[in-house]
Amino acid sequence: MQYLDEVGCTVAKTEAEADVIVINTCAVREKAEQKLWSYLGELADIKKTKPYVKIGVIGCVASYKKKEIYTRFDQVSFVYGAREEMPALQAYLTDLVVGLESTKQVYAENPQLSVDSHQDRDIKEVVARKGLFAVSRLSKLGGFKQHALKKTSAVTPAEPIKEVGRSYINIMTGCNKRCAYCIVPVTRGQEISFPMDEIVQRVAHDVANGVKEVMLIGQNVNSYADPVTGERFPELLRRLVALEGTFWVRYISPHPQDMTVDLFDVMAAHPHRLPWSVHFPVQSGSNKILDAMLRNYTIERYLEQIQWLRDRMPTATISTDIIVGFPGETEEDFLATMAVIEKVRFDLVYSFIYSPRKYTRAAKMEDDCLPEVKGARLEALQKRQLVIALENNSRNIGKKLRCLVEKRLEHGKLLARTEGNVRVIFDGTENLIGQFIDLTIISVSPQNMHAVLSSFIQ
Ligand code: SAH
Ligand code: SF4
Repeated sequence: MQYLDEVGCTVAKTEAEADVIVINTCAVREKAEQKLWSYLGELADIKKTKPYVKIGVIGCVASYKKKEIYTRFDQVSFVYGAREEMPALQAYLTDLVVGLESTKQVYAENPQLSVDSHQDRDIKEVVARKGLFAVSRLSKLGGFKQHALKKTSAVTPAEPIKEVGRSYINIMTGCNKRCAYCIVPVTRGQEISFPMDEIVQRVAHDVANGVKEVMLIGQNVNSYADPVTGERFPELLRRLVALEGTFWVRYISPHPQDMTVDLFDVMAAHPHRLPWSVHFPVQSGSNKILDAMLRNYTIERYLEQIQWLRDRMPTATISTDIIVGFPGETEEDFLATMAVIEKVRFDLVYSFIYSPRKYTRAAKMEDDCLPEVKGARLEALQKRQLVIALENNSRNIGKKLRCLVEKRLEHGKLLARTEGNVRVIFDGTENLIGQFIDLTIISVSPQNMHAVLSSFIQ
């Protein structure tokens, strides 16, 4: 929320120090939602000591639980859903922050005043009523985030940066698929892609301001289609490859349906701009479960696509998402999933126990798999995956890998990532942060590799 810097905001170290607390929420699994409820409960105490504090909830839970949040939690001042317009929220927040100084003063002069429990239930109405102005057209792309940009901008004197410049660019939002377990189509609605020209301009702008890694984001990022010309995701990547500068472009979260040969061809041809790391969510290794999940592919098709990828990018790392314990999953189905992790030998697996979400098809399915069985399956999968990740990382020992240095870790070492998005820890000086360098890998664990410096690339 860079625009808040401009009105004098700084990041508080703890909630207790903050005057404004905005909680960005995710609705994909129920656990995250449960955490929100208990967190909101805890925040009530903060308003007892600082009655003027403003608490807001944004994101996916805000989209579909707006009414419930307003009624259950007096301490919440505003709720704004994931699909609502970002410029209105930005204008609203800027005004809120500016107004807070005088509110704080009023409270300081009148300690007997009770907690501020005013709720703005219609932010767009507040924005229109107060004539607050919206921000530029480009920011309509929704939630551009930039880190560590200020220190690297052309007008700021050169001082070592604390963290690599990154930007997260929403290129599309929503999802037209209907995976039986997933709440995203409910919270985010139909797919909308943003104009390719604007995305390319935005990337060029960020890179000119010091960004070294651009993350293109979308619920279904590779079903992107330019609303003006209809051009698809690989074409966007080609346009980004043609830009000047030394930077990486990654993307998240793709769906297998649009993992095409064309996409792999572009990546294969430009490893230094489009680093060879692919997130390729499989969900299950059983065709029966994939069918019940409405995933639109078979495991044979998935493995064929993995082969296309490996043929073109033999050293690419591959990560995936897996759900265990989907309704109807038998031991045999689970073993089919285990067989896939053996075949593909993923570098990273995000694995989850199936979480029933209201409004989804799967929530109505009969589920006779016991929670302890699901827990044991998850554990078995994670245990095996640790070994595979360790073996994969071990293959890098002695190799020199191109890395981007991210930041200093708490224990003093530097953290970098390989093109394959694997964490590398090494000793080095702060001026390396934000640089592309070659590191020689000397030892590994399942999650990290340790290295020594080989050379600077720039
Ligand atoms: N669009 C991406 C996934 C986005 S959601 C895709 O199609 O692959 C991120 C991940 O959360 C999913 O891949 C899935 O593994 C997990 N997930 C989503 N809904 C879930 C649920 N109800 N229970 C457990 N995991 C879930
Ligand atoms: Fe959810 Fe991804 Fe399926 Fe869309 S494609 S419904 S976001 S899991």
